[in-house]
Amino acid sequence: MIKIDSQRLLNVRDYYYKEIYSTVSTCFHAATLGINPFTGKNLRTWFVTRTTGNLNESFLKILLTGTFDEIIAEIPEIEYYLLTCKFLHFSFEQVDAKLPGKKKADRISIRRAHVHKYSNPWLNKHTNAPDHRSFLSSNKNYSQFVHDVKADMDQLNALIAQIIDYSNISRGLRHELLHRIGIEVCPYCNRQYITSYKDGTAKKTTADLDHFYPNSIFKLLSLSLYNFVPSCQICNSRFKLAKGSEILYPYESGFDRDTYFDVALTPSSNSDSLIGGNTLFNIKLHQTHTGSRADQLEGSIRLFQLQEVYQSHKEYVRELLYKQYVYKDAYKKDLTALFDNMQLTEQEIQLFLYGHALQEDKLGNSPLSKLAFDIITRS
Ligand SMILES: [Zn+2]
Repeated sequence: MIKIDSQRLLNVRDYYYKEIYSTVSTCFHAATLGINPFTGKNLRTWFVTRTTGNLNESFLKILLTGTFDEIIAEIPEIEYYLLTCKFLHFSFEQVDAKLPGKKKADRISIRRAHVHKYSNPWLNKHTNAPDHRSFLSSNKNYSQFVHDVKADMDQLNALIAQIIDYSNISRGLRHELLHRIGIEVCPYCNRQYITSYKDGTAKKTTADLDHFYPNSIFKLLSLSLYNFVPSCQICNSRFKLAKGSEILYPYESGFDRDTYFDVALTPSSNSDSLIGGNTLFNIKLHQTHTGSRADQLEGSIRLFQLQEVYQSHKEYVRELLYKQYVYKDAYKKDLTALFDNMQLTEQEIQLFLYGHALQEDKLGNSPLSKLAFDIITRS
């Protein structure tokens, strides 16, 4: 996972708002809306100004083009919406099946910790309900609790969908947006190019526009720019199939130095394996963070199966190791003289030697650059 410079979104927010505004505004005027089951208030209050009762355009602009924090700053209640959606998306219902052999008290603690993590007044409405007095005590009770929260959320999302509906974004706008965001390599795997091209006059791309928070649950964010992450089709399909893994949010952070690739010897390795003489080794992706990001880092590695898919790059790693070995020793003197003559920068030298500039802040610009960076700079 490589962090995406969020400046890319700032560059397109005005364009995007201009393109999407009229569709959303038309939906708003046709919407009947109704009561938010979590609060008992009409959902209309989110979308209109208090003084005139007309469409609140400044909120709409932030909802469509602002960060999640900016959206919550506009309407604090939206934080409860997002926490409740996260609770549902990451819900861990079948504790008994997933953790066989755990004591009943432990299973209750696991369920309690999960509810506590996303605790907010909307969820608490259900935890405090008389029907759910012993909702933590068994899978059956807990599933009923999750089911009831979901029923409220489905009802609310059906209201939201009257205004905010992903199917209202045209294919042309999707391609244009991907083109303008301009990400060329999948941020999740750093393996595949995601290319923009022209088909006649139409712009197309090989990328998918992934919803970081899935459209199926986080309906309110389904047209939000900060919820769109361009990715390769493989990562997008893994993302869609997966449920319940918290991963890094790429506009905020990437692996950085909390993970690194290296070469792990196997019983069949020999002395040549470390100097590019063969591919009798494995590629290991280490996760070193022990703090609050650990779960998300591990979730990202697991969800995109990075440990597994990177094994197909052993030949590339062998080449890097071989070049490093040769450049370090045999040709070092000659190369130093050559580079001095050519007056190359450090990055140009790395590019010349390894095909990568190995700049830590530009690893998202070419495939496998994180792998190359770690192998070259750490060995
Ligand atoms: Zn990918």
